[in-house]
Amino acid sequence: MIFGCHVSIKEGYLGAAKLAYKKGASAFQFFPKNPRSLVVKEFDHLDALGCKEFCEKYQLQSIIHTPYPTSLTPTVDKRNLTIQSIINDLSIADACGAIGVVVHFGSPIDTTNPLESYHLMIDMLNSVLEQWDGQALILLENIAGGSMGVTLEEHVQVRSLSLFPEKIGFCFDTCHAFASGLWNGENTKELLQKGTTLNYWSEVKAFHLNNSKYNTGSGKDRHANIFQNGFIKETEFDDLLTSPMFQHLPFILETPKDDGISYEEELVQLQQRWGGLKEH
Ligand SMILES: [Zn+2]
Repeated sequence: MIFGCHVSIKEGYLGAAKLAYKKGASAFQFFPKNPRSLVVKEFDHLDALGCKEFCEKYQLQSIIHTPYPTSLTPTVDKRNLTIQSIINDLSIADACGAIGVVVHFGSPIDTTNPLESYHLMIDMLNSVLEQWDGQALILLENIAGGSMGVTLEEHVQVRSLSLFPEKIGFCFDTCHAFASGLWNGENTKELLQKGTTLNYWSEVKAFHLNNSKYNTGSGKDRHANIFQNGFIKETEFDDLLTSPMFQHLPFILETPKDDGISYEEELVQLQQRWGGLKEH
């Protein structure tokens, strides 16, 4: 099993990779730039190359999370900025050897005309990807609640309706799936079956492995540690984490670091519970 966690780039991209390795992770996620800004970053290519080479040497996988203001359904005045920002994130991902760039599914722009939001989202994806020829993928992430981006069908449809489906994959967040009600902890087999039928799982490239501080169906996005303070039971994670479909994919923690447990400890717990103990 490949377990990892989100890490800071305070010490640069190579620094982030080293930090993840030090924590005992086999994978990591990082912000490519200031997480509160869409301003394009002139990044240090040597540092990024160092990150890529370190990851190759120690067999670390990585993904990038786009900055918080990134939306695939932006207001008109933010569209160009957002497109340029995502292309910048994809370039950084490629330079660092990351699998892809996680972007949240779009949110509704017009409640009277839901289709408008999907059209804008597909248009944004096309605008980004027609300018992108690298290896890094866009990874659409499922949402914790609301009227858009909760179901597997929407993800599969948006991908297939875009002009560049081969450049789009998915990132499945367990907290969001649980909070939205898509996964209630008891319907794992049905969910796995459905995702297989829809060709959703075959395009999942990474997981966000989080527990949820609120119950299923709450629609609230509050991450909890896997083994404490969360509504998803250990046994409910079993069928997901032991599925043969996912043994080669990174499961990345975005859990609280201030709830009495560190990433180092949580990664050890994961290895003990579900295997994947990695010799350093
Ligand atoms: Zn997430």
